[in-house]
Amino acid sequence: MFRIRGRTYLRAFTIAAWFKSERGRKTSMKQTKRSTWVEYYRDVAFCVSMRSKDPSLQVGCVTVHPKSLRILSAGYNGFPPGTPNKDENWRKGTKDDLVVHAEANTVLLAGQADLEGSIAFVTMYPCRECAKMLIAKGVRKVYYLSLKKKYQADSTAIFKEADVEVVPIKRGEDTTLEDYGNHLIQKVSFVMQQNTTPGEPNGAYKALRDSTEELRSRDLQSPWPRELMGKILLDKWTDYFLFLALIASTRSLENPQGAILIDSKTLKISALSYNGYPRGVSNDNADDWMKLSALTNAICLRFSEGHDFIAFSTHFPKLHEVKNLAQAQVKRLYFIWPKTLEGDDEKALQIMKDSGMEVVPMDVPDLEKLGEAIKYTIGSLKEAEKGLSSDDWPSYTWTEYDLQPERHRWKPKQTPEARTCSGAHSTYRNDSI
Ligand SMILES: [Zn+2]
Repeated sequence: MFRIRGRTYLRAFTIAAWFKSERGRKTSMKQTKRSTWVEYYRDVAFCVSMRSKDPSLQVGCVTVHPKSLRILSAGYNGFPPGTPNKDENWRKGTKDDLVVHAEANTVLLAGQADLEGSIAFVTMYPCRECAKMLIAKGVRKVYYLSLKKKYQADSTAIFKEADVEVVPIKRGEDTTLEDYGNHLIQKVSFVMQQNTTPGEPNGAYKALRDSTEELRSRDLQSPWPRELMGKILLDKWTDYFLFLALIASTRSLENPQGAILIDSKTLKISALSYNGYPRGVSNDNADDWMKLSALTNAICLRFSEGHDFIAFSTHFPKLHEVKNLAQAQVKRLYFIWPKTLEGDDEKALQIMKDSGMEVVPMDVPDLEKLGEAIKYTIGSLKEAEKGLSSDDWPSYTWTEYDLQPERHRWKPKQTPEARTCSGAHSTYRNDSI
């Protein structure tokens, strides 16, 4: 059931204070259950939208692989190269001729990613032009977070004609956008609270901070630099990618960790992940040692664009991971926690330095600023939904809500010779090492 009703936001700092209280901690443990896959990519698409410079409407889109559910491409609404982000360009009546919609950007900037059969997550129901582009690129299913009435009729008709399934995303307990926004703020607060470790930064950490001061303050250089307006929600690329890593960590079962890899030249997302078991390993039967860290997961899932990578991680890597990071062409690593580097961490740091990797300790994101940015983006979607009634929101049983990756069970084919051997593995030597 869809209800539009007035509801005031809990201010982000109030939530932060609540989380620090004993009662808040206990309640949050219960309330902040692990995100489902649909919730996870709903949140990722929403956070992508927060990088849009459109002051009145921020929209995000991500596409994921239908079998592995790994991220393939992402986009938000913005101007093409050369068009400055000036107030007058974003004005109603002008912006429609200039702006490239989120879904169109996701398709156009997909690079080598094959979107055939993919699943799209959008924060707003696609317009008809975007619907056509998604269909043309091979998207077979679309999950959407909010509706825009003027887009609904035409896009629904063409999706139906093309046999593309379109599914509304559950937004919260009472299906309002406010409820969704508050829940997202809670999730971010929870992750940050989980990672707040007591103790002062130690000498090795401080030395790393001092030596990277310039890198911390400098933003990444976009291949399409353009004029920025004063009000931008996540104003630096580094803030944006760290926030996405933080959002990725909300799907962790425990000890939340998230990581994202981006192509160093195009700044396109190459992989996004969290710490967890590899595909096919069930959470119920696995031991802790079977887990992969968020960074290792990300480098396994990375989609190569042919350049070096920049990694954003909520956590500093373990010693056994850093050789793999170096080998995977990660040339710079930004991390948030912990603020002490000791023992094996110093060895890890040395290996990364020897490989030419820059390691940059970043500040913990400002919860209040993030809360305000989430609230701002929710407000813009709400504005676009104005005038909708409960009849406009399709009823749905949420059966499609439980998206799962395909779990491969490797069954070696047996050749006649192999059958005479004691183990079929002998016919499948891995010669690629
Ligand atoms: Zn569109």
